[in-house]
Amino acid sequence: MSKRDYYEILGVSKSAGADEIKKAYRKLALKYHPDRNPGDKEAEESFKEAAEAYEVLSDSQKRQRYDQFGHAGLGGAGGGAGHFTNVDDIFSHFGDIFSEFGFGGFGGFGSSRRGSGRRVNKGSNLRVKVSLNLEEIAKGVEKKLKVNKYTACDECSGTGARGSNGYETCSTCHGAGQVTRIANTMLGRMQTTAACPDCGGEGKIIKDKCLKCHGEGIIKAEEIIKINIPAGVGEGMQLNVAGKGNAARRGGVNGDLLVLIEEKKHPELIRDGNDLVYPLYLSFPQAALGDTVEIPTVDGKVKIKIDSGTQPGKILRLRGKGLPEVNGYGKGDLLVNINVWVPNKLSRDEQKLVEKMTESDNFKPGPSAAGEGGFFERMRNYFE
Ligand SMILES: [Zn+2]
Ligand SMILES: [Zn+2]
Repeated sequence: MSKRDYYEILGVSKSAGADEIKKAYRKLALKYHPDRNPGDKEAEESFKEAAEAYEVLSDSQKRQRYDQFGHAGLGGAGGGAGHFTNVDDIFSHFGDIFSEFGFGGFGGFGSSRRGSGRRVNKGSNLRVKVSLNLEEIAKGVEKKLKVNKYTACDECSGTGARGSNGYETCSTCHGAGQVTRIANTMLGRMQTTAACPDCGGEGKIIKDKCLKCHGEGIIKAEEIIKINIPAGVGEGMQLNVAGKGNAARRGGVNGDLLVLIEEKKHPELIRDGNDLVYPLYLSFPQAALGDTVEIPTVDGKVKIKIDSGTQPGKILRLRGKGLPEVNGYGKGDLLVNINVWVPNKLSRDEQKLVEKMTESDNFKPGPSAAGEGGFFERMRNYFE
């Protein structure tokens, strides 16, 4: 499913400042607000879309990654920022912005929606490093990560209470988790709500704590998480896998898993952006006579033809043999940088052989070294 551009969604330019982005988001959030568009699925989708765009563009790090890598930079195939599957998530996420509108913060959007109003705990984010080799980066890879994280307690199913009678309904809010008041806002008279001060928005108070998790509803456990890493990622990039972080206390929204990419050095290939560079050493006879040689690529070995009279410093460009762009458009090249190997030591016979070569003027750097495509020109091109 292709995603719309975040700037386009908010209707701002790529150079928009933080204030402009916030304003644009507010406008859309008010327009598509679920309380103003009850039962309108399209408005709800637009509401989520705007929240997602805002989440990315209001965070300078995410915005930078998005500018550089597009949607793929935010989590690739499965993850990404598109994790606002329900409207309550948005309220818990941007509660402060909504309360500025006079909406009363966390999930407090009237009583029309099922179970709304309870404060949504959010689990903390989990950070892991993943080390990839160039072959994995070239194709993209599925990794299974073993992480030690908070998960819902299996004894109490995350409620924190011992048995089904382990908690009682909060007497202040009667289980609603919120207290309601009528307020005048910029949209007119609105019913606004705030989390119940007595139960912290949970609607219930635990009187008999679960023995395993001591009432927290979460326990540390080992979990295997499968993540799909898109092709073309690089050292230092971070992928967000929504909802795979730590579980929240007593039932809530999971945090995210933040995957930091580390790149292992390839034994033969050097990465330069999406291009790869291979320093190829030829013997003098190979360079003079021509040959067919095998070189490494991220797809295995390939054979390339060396023309007779090939000069050191020449670069052969193998199109499309580099790494793919992380956003999926285009591929880099493999640059074969030709060098000619000069032996460190010569036997007596070899020395005679080489001395023999000095008799021919043809072995001296001739006009071709200085002429078109020659050493001088290449150096100039390099430095200019
Ligand atoms: Zn428990
Ligand atoms: Zn309460």
